Amino acid sequence: MSDIASLDLATQTRDLLSGLGVDERRLSAQGAAIPVRSPVNGQMLGHVASATAEETNATIERAHAAFLAWRRIPAPRRGELVRLLGEELRANKDALGRLVSIEVGKSPSEGLGEVQEMIDICDFAVGLSRQLCGLTIATERAEHRMMETWHPIGVVGIISAFNFPVAVWAWNAALALVCGDSVVWKPSEKTPLTAIATDAILRRAIKRFNASGDAAPDGLAELAVGGRETGAALVAHPRVPLVSATGSTEMGRIVGRELASRFGRAILELGGNNAAIVTPSADLDLALRGVAFAAMGTAGQRCTTLRRLFVHSSVYDAFVPRLKAAFSSVSVGSPLDGHLVGPLIDHAALERMQEALAAAMEFGATVHGGERVDVGAPQAFYARPALVETPVHDGPVLDETFAPILYVLSYDDLEDAIALQNDVPQGLSSAIFTTDLREAELFLSARGSDCGIANVNIGTSGAEIGGAFGGEKATGGGRESGSDSWKGYMRRATNTINYGRDLPLAQGVTFDV
Ligand code: NAD
Repeated sequence: MSDIASLDLATQTRDLLSGLGVDERRLSAQGAAIPVRSPVNGQMLGHVASATAEETNATIERAHAAFLAWRRIPAPRRGELVRLLGEELRANKDALGRLVSIEVGKSPSEGLGEVQEMIDICDFAVGLSRQLCGLTIATERAEHRMMETWHPIGVVGIISAFNFPVAVWAWNAALALVCGDSVVWKPSEKTPLTAIATDAILRRAIKRFNASGDAAPDGLAELAVGGRETGAALVAHPRVPLVSATGSTEMGRIVGRELASRFGRAILELGGNNAAIVTPSADLDLALRGVAFAAMGTAGQRCTTLRRLFVHSSVYDAFVPRLKAAFSSVSVGSPLDGHLVGPLIDHAALERMQEALAAAMEFGATVHGGERVDVGAPQAFYARPALVETPVHDGPVLDETFAPILYVLSYDDLEDAIALQNDVPQGLSSAIFTTDLREAELFLSARGSDCGIANVNIGTSGAEIGGAFGGEKATGGGRESGSDSWKGYMRRATNTINYGRDLPLAQGVTFDV
């Protein structure tokens, strides 16, 4: 067990970045630079330059010019670049995974898992590069053919959140690049170092791509480090037809409105207030493990973190005390030392957690845990996960507090529990623990969960890339990653071709001149 305060994460970070070919001067920017601390022990890792408005605009113009060239490259060749990116990520998985752990405070396993997710989406996108297919549609007119084609859309702006600092870029960029788009990435100002590292890995892939006889145009995949004003510049720019924005609902409300005002397209991946239901027939051992990881993993800082739990009154006394024991015994401390619950991202996150717990008590809740845990590093903010038994589905229960708080309620009727589960602004992820087929199917039916993700006997977090990822209502309605999410990164044209000698009009309309 290391002494957390004296852990030299700054030197480790420098070594990891220089191993990836990043000039170490990028960590010592002067002036209006972004300070970066590790949440693991609060140590300052460096200061990173923030793009000016002029630089961001120039980056977007470069990306637009790149798009005009890139769309001419056949999609399977574009896939070759993404294949090489996947290879480079495999080769640098340990270094990038470690950086994610240092910059966000994730466990080594989760840091590596995040990079694996990037590799997985690259593999998916490579296959997709030969499958960007439209329909042929029956036409009512003789000697005509109707079909749809999918074309690249242009510059895709990617705005990402701190908690998946690099995977979210890959979900978007791998698809956008095979679709023929260029990308400009505005990472979270809390995690610019992993973005710089990812950019360096991408440069290696581009170099190899160009060496093999292809030409990735300058400006094809750009990085614009900065705060929300840099994101706002992307959102406002008329050369950016699509912005994929991941973050809080508050951010999405602003970004969505701005894009709509100029008819720009949005993929919004916003906050969740995810719930699970434990029914009388549930396998309680399995439910315990599923709930524990979903509620406490990543210190409650996943958009899919389990935040509300409805337990049937007949199993409440058999289940909840075991869950309480798991919450009170889980190890809290440096994730780099093997603890399961790591730090919150910053002091503000700890404050918001404490405020939510105080508000829950005002609504009559009993709070177990939730206190700050002293790890011997005053600038690091750790908390014991809180299990909150609440008599009402009200107050802070209705909000997403980005911290490990699980509100637990008892229910008697499954339809009531489903109604309560759906009775929040967000609609991202949900789960039911049951061995009763009727209960499982009801939950998955049109009368069941209203979320973009609905699971049976699995927690709410930990999605695979093969499925479409995203949620409804205040979660924004966007879909990323697998299934047919690629369609969001292209524009669709319907083509009708007349190969006859007559000109019949649709709907039998006549117009004889
Ligand atoms: P945040 O909203 O504070 O910031 C997210 C990103 O948006 C950052 O890059 C930030 O600079 C940018 N931003 C903020 N305001 C902006 C504006 N007005 N214009 C343009 N850009 C702006 O979120 P966070 O604290 O980094 O992340 C946590 C939140 O993200 C949680 O709500 C979580 O649920 C959500 N999240 C959602 C998903 C999903 O897929 N649904 C995934 C990860 C995180």
